[in-house]
Parts: sequence; structure tokens; C-alpha cells
Amino acid sequence: MESLPIVNEARNVRPPVDPATLMHRHLLEGDFWRRIPAYANVSEAEFLDHKWQMKQTITKVDKLLAALQGLVSPGFISDAEAGFRAAPMAVRVSPYLLALIDWQAPYEDPLRRQFIPLGSSILPDHPKLKFDSLHEQADAPVHGLTHRYPDKALFLALDTCPVYCRFCTRSYAVGPDTDQGELEKLSLKATKGRWEDIFSYIATRPELEDIVVSGGDSYNLRADQITEIGTRLLDIPHVRRMRFATKGPAVMPQKLVSDDEWFQALVAVVKRGRAMAKEVVVHTHFNHPNEITSITKRGLDRLHAEGVVVRNQSVLQRGVNDSVEAMQLLVKRLAYVNVQPYYVYVHDLVKGVEELRTTVDTATSLEKAVRGTTAGFNTPTFVVDAPGGGGKRVVHSYEHYDRTTGISVFMAPSVKPGQYFLYFDPLHLLPDAGQRRWADPAEHTKMVQEALDKAHANRH
Ligand SMILES: *Cc1c(COP(=O)(O)O)cnc(C)c1O
Ligand code: SF4
Repeated sequence: MESLPIVNEARNVRPPVDPATLMHRHLLEGDFWRRIPAYANVSEAEFLDHKWQMKQTITKVDKLLAALQGLVSPGFISDAEAGFRAAPMAVRVSPYLLALIDWQAPYEDPLRRQFIPLGSSILPDHPKLKFDSLHEQADAPVHGLTHRYPDKALFLALDTCPVYCRFCTRSYAVGPDTDQGELEKLSLKATKGRWEDIFSYIATRPELEDIVVSGGDSYNLRADQITEIGTRLLDIPHVRRMRFATKGPAVMPQKLVSDDEWFQALVAVVKRGRAMAKEVVVHTHFNHPNEITSITKRGLDRLHAEGVVVRNQSVLQRGVNDSVEAMQLLVKRLAYVNVQPYYVYVHDLVKGVEELRTTVDTATSLEKAVRGTTAGFNTPTFVVDAPGGGGKRVVHSYEHYDRTTGISVFMAPSVKPGQYFLYFDPLHLLPDAGQRRWADPAEHTKMVQEALDKAHANRH
């Protein structure tokens, strides 16, 4: 009989690691933006100025394509043109992001994939895709406030962002209408009247302790609006916790470095909250380690010095962060700049970005690979935001998962007891047998019923 390996011998002591291999500490430095012809003469002072970043942010497809002339092949340009023609999301790209994309390899670049669509990679939407797949509107007692969970609510304060992400779950509301909007986008303007209705609703619901201020993006709130929302919410006695959600640090860290008015307004709300024994934090949205540079660290160090807690929510995207290497590096680098990795979302069913989605199986495998690489409190929870308003469920917690049809079934007993919620893997990643079944519309209801029956049987 073979003996079991002995695990606690001295030879298992870990050898020291060569610091040069600790890639999460190697942040991009220097004037990397000068690689872009349009920014070749831009000084560091200018590039770090948030006003310059905002003014130079590209919001027209032809301007973007013009900035890329000479950097990429004509084939890529026409591919991007076709991509934008078909895209449900408007274009908005900061110079910072543009400068972080590797234009030598634009097809593979993880930042390009998130912001610049290509005609050649478009895949048909999943047949089960619906506008507002998360039912944020169905769970909204007042326009722009989603009250789904018992003690927390989502306040959609505005509908603009510093950039527009292709994969945005709120493309039903966020950003200007595009050629592809078959429905006009829902309007969520930053207007006082609408906010008043929301403050009143929150004030009349004693169970609401936790308010997520999102949109759109808190970066696009003016300093006085940050103060207004922060103060009004903190003054409601039962509100104990607030988060300002913003993608800003990932796409324009310059604002944290140079927009003192906005920065101080935010810090003042955090400090006011602390004086009242309430918690005010920032939730941000980094998806790839390349989004974290030495400029990011400067901005985040400033927040950290003021005692502002920052947590991160990523969206799992194919070709962006669906490899073990990318996800591990993202998690370690976030922790290195004092951002706590909080969630990784399995990509919602969103129009026009099917090639960015991946499977529940990929998410569970990545979770296993990431857990154990660093502190548990810096290990994100991988979740599916259950279509139909079930809320966030840990990806491993499905009642049933069929890898052939790509259907997973979740329950949310604390949110909507007794209901089943379904998530659908993208068809192009299913085995042939699954793709064949989805090709036949008569099979759709059958596959769903089978999955529900199995989920039900697993529980009894
Ligand atoms: C995500 C979300 C929240 C906050 O949920 P946490 O799990 O506490 O981060 C609140 N309301 C809605 C509608 C949400 O989608
Ligand atoms: S920043 Fe957030 S809300 Fe705005 S487009 Fe991107 S994902 Fe959507």
C-alpha cells in the first residue's frame, strides 16, 4: 500500500518569491498617453487635470475613429464603424482609457473590448433576453428608486456617466438614445422634484437602512449635488449606511487627483456620516488590472488618507477578465491600492453584447481559482444578479445547472420566497447538443420546464 504524502515537513516551507514576479505591484507609470498621436504633446499637468480629461472625452464616433487613424489598420476602423452602427450604447471614451488600450493589438485588448464594439464580433442576443432584465423598474415604488431587498434600496440619481460601457446593465436608461434603441430610453434626469419623491419614500420606510446612490454615475453629480444627496439621506434617522457608486476611479482617476471641490464634498459627507456613527463608502467598478495605474493609486491614496472606504464590483466578461491570470491579478492589484474586491457579477443578459458574456461554469471555476490567493476579506463573491428581480445570488448556490442547455436555476428565499429565477449561458459557448436544442423554438419552453422540474426535485 502506498503511503500518504506527509504534508507538514520542512520541505513544504514556501521559498521566498522574487519581487519582480509580483505583477500586482507593477503599476504603469510615466507619460504613457504620448503613444497616442493626438496626445503626443500633452504634458503631465494637463493629463492629470480632470477638466482636460472631461473636455477631451470623445463622444462622437467619427472623432474616435479620427483619433485612431494611423494607430490601427483601416480594416479595424471599418470594423469599429460597423460595431457602433449596431450598438445600443452611445460612445463616450476618456483620453485616459484611450491611452491605456494597446493599439498594437486592438482586437484582443481587454479595455477596447469593453468600450469599442466591432461589427465582426457581434453575436445574436439570447432568445430569453429582455430589456431591463433585472426588473429594476418593476421593483421601483418611485421613479428611479428600486426597493427589492428588505433593508436596502437603489437610488438612480442620474442617467449619465463619465464613459459609456458597452455591457451596461442599465442601457435601458443610461446614456443618450442610439440608432439601435428600439425603445426610447427611460429618463432618469438629476432633477430635484424626482429626488424629493425618493427622499420622501425613504423617510416613510423605517426598514430602509442602506441606500446605494448610483445611476448613471456619482462622478457626474456636481459637488453641491453630492452634498445635497449625502446630507438629505444622512438626516433620515433610520438610514445607517450609504454608498456612492461610481466607475470614475477606473476610467478617470484624474478627478480624484484634481477636482478638489467634488473630492472635498464627498469627504465631507463621509466625515459627517462618521460623526453620526453612520457609514458612507464609495463603490467602484474596475474590471481589468490594466485599469489600475500609478495615477489611479495617487487618486485612491488621497481617498484612503481621508479614511474613505472603497469597494469594487466587477463584471465578468469574456476576453476581458475571464482568465484565472487576469482575475487573480485584478484582485491582488485592487487590494494593493486599498480597494476591497466585493463582487464579481456574472454578466447580465444585455442587448448587443452577447460575445462578452460567459457561462456560470466559468464563474464557478474562477471563484475556486481566486479563493485562497489573498486575504478572505479581499476575495470577491461571485454572483448572478438573477433575471426577474431575484437579486444577487452566489454563483455556486444554484438549485440546478444544466451545462448542455446553459440554464441555471436560483432561489432567493429572503427576497422573493417560493420563486425560481433563471439565468441563461450564452448559446455560442454551449456544447453542440445544447445549441441544437436552442435552434428549435419549440424546445425553449421544454428546456426551461425540465430545468425547473429538476430544481424542484433537488429540493425534495
Ligand atoms: C445590488 C443592489 C443592492 C445592494 O446589494 P448588496 O448586495 O448589499 O451590494 C440594493 N438594491 C438593488 C436593487 C441592487 O441591485
Ligand atoms: S459607468 Fe456603470 S452605469 Fe455607466 S455605462 Fe458604465 S456600467 Fe453603465
